[in-house]
Amino acid sequence: MARPLTVCGTAAAEGIPALHCTCGTCRRAWELGGREMRTRAAYNLGDDVRIDFGPDSHLHMRAVGRDYSRLEHLLVTHSHDDHWFPKDLDYRRPGFCVLPDDAPPLTVYGNPHVMETARASLKDPVASRIELREIRAFETFEAGGSLTVTTVRAEHAGDEEAVNFILREPGRTVLIAHDTGYWEEESWAFVAGIEIDVALIDSTYGRYDQNGGHMGAPWVVKFAGRLRELGCLGDASGVIATHFSHNGHANHGELVDIYSSHGIQVAYDGMILE
Ligand SMILES: [Zn+2]
Ligand SMILES: [Zn+2]
Ligand SMILES: [Zn+2]
Repeated sequence: MARPLTVCGTAAAEGIPALHCTCGTCRRAWELGGREMRTRAAYNLGDDVRIDFGPDSHLHMRAVGRDYSRLEHLLVTHSHDDHWFPKDLDYRRPGFCVLPDDAPPLTVYGNPHVMETARASLKDPVASRIELREIRAFETFEAGGSLTVTTVRAEHAGDEEAVNFILREPGRTVLIAHDTGYWEEESWAFVAGIEIDVALIDSTYGRYDQNGGHMGAPWVVKFAGRLRELGCLGDASGVIATHFSHNGHANHGELVDIYSSHGIQVAYDGMILE
């Protein structure tokens, strides 16, 4: 059985409402509340796996109602600070927290940029029971007994190798593809034929026909269509747009309107895929 996947955060770097911002989209988000309120993108898979560890990780802990002491695998997409805030990981150190005696070690997987910043931030990885494992694009590895992770090169962050993740568990395969534009051909060729049950796709540019590092709605539709053409998505597969910026100028209801005719769902903070 697949573990529940909690979509903890669904915003791009500034959050929604964005820090300091008074644009129309942010003002409307303040008015409407609920699903308009978005924290920086991250996911929990059960209690033991997390994808990204950005500046809203503390808020996610409180929202989910569980601390991170049972976390065993932290998969980091890239080092941009909305996805990776290693200073907060250093609070796993004795003196800042009390780990239970039976707390499992935590393995952090990330590209060389993520590893470098982890080494700089973690004062005592051994006492913090943190192990670092460098990953690159187009790898497949086991993370614990029942999760197989495949990395796909994202079209993002030119100076480092940002990755998207395919998470395969008994009963479900999920693609997490935020912080990417429409993939380069090598990524499409790599995923061809991999069957995906749920694909979460970057929709940073909201309503705009914009691609490059991130995507707007027309490109999310193209992205899902290409996955379908390549045999990755079948009739029963789900597609969910996520990682939204206020600069995409679409509130939740407008995003639902844009995406519903394409059979694409719109993520919100706290969404749980059972
Ligand atoms: Zn991002
Ligand atoms: Zn704004
Ligand atoms: Zn990024």
